[in-house]
Amino acid sequence: MKKVYGVIGDPIEHSLSPVMQNAAFDKMKMDCIYLAFNVKAEALKEAVLGAKSLGIDGLNITIPHKENVIPFLDVDPLAKKIGAVNTIDLRTNTGYNTDGLGAKKALEAHDVDVGGKNVVLVGAGGAAKAIAFQLAADGAHITIVNRTRSRAIDLANSIDSPKVTGVGLNELNSNVKDADILINSTSVGMYPNVDGSILTSDRMHPDLTVFDIVYNPIETKMLRAAKRSGAKTIDGVMMLVHQGAESFKIWTGKKPPIDVMEKAVRGALQNR
Ligand code: NAP
Repeated sequence: MKKVYGVIGDPIEHSLSPVMQNAAFDKMKMDCIYLAFNVKAEALKEAVLGAKSLGIDGLNITIPHKENVIPFLDVDPLAKKIGAVNTIDLRTNTGYNTDGLGAKKALEAHDVDVGGKNVVLVGAGGAAKAIAFQLAADGAHITIVNRTRSRAIDLANSIDSPKVTGVGLNELNSNVKDADILINSTSVGMYPNVDGSILTSDRMHPDLTVFDIVYNPIETKMLRAAKRSGAKTIDGVMMLVHQGAESFKIWTGKKPPIDVMEKAVRGALQNR
């Protein structure tokens, strides 16, 4: 019988997960389908329990449900620390967070190893939290920079490592000067506010890798500035693909075709 997977969020119509996961299932000739479900906050518990009853094996969870779904699940230790779940294995009722691993694999795909490097991570929201825990586990020196300074400090404290500090946005320029890697994990530059950038090109340098996790548009204003400065650039598509690939592995135990998933996502974004 056909296996069903899906993503739950609100709104959900712009999710790229169906096109990405279905491309992988098609390529691997698996009798599976991945659907998007719009679920309101008040129906979240019923949706998760109902999906399990219907025999759905796996779900992705997106905005605004990533935190609120936790009480209905067993949550793996990393997702518990992050405080957010983006993947559920309904066979075991376990919640995971694959965003950090997605970011790590995106960096690795561009031959960037974070171990011992100075990383400036801008943002302290859901995505930043997942990336910060992953970077810390991989031995990076991390400066978390956030508009609301207290959130940067709280996130740094929650990681509890002497290699991690939190500062306000006014300290971005001074920290980027000595950084190896700059990651934007804020929503600045995201459609429709495409004229936003957290930093200008004169503050970047050729030894820097600039990774923008925003994927709509694929080339953000910040990435264009980074290119002008001679920095290496990484767009947000590969993180999206790899976090989805990690979900696919959890659900199926199989290694998905990354290139096919990437092509599906880039194609869908270009057609928007
Ligand atoms: P979130 O939890 O709402 O966090 C938003 C972050 O952006 C906060 O740190 C916020 O700072 C900051 N911010 C918002 N507007 C700002 C502004 N005008 N100036 C400076 N900082 C600002 O969002 P999220 O879930 O972490 O997502 C952030 C972005 O990452 C989104 O664009 C999302 O699409 C993208 N994303 C990409 C992937 C991927 O796979 N590529 C995965 C997840 C998310 P304050 O704390 O001061 O409010």
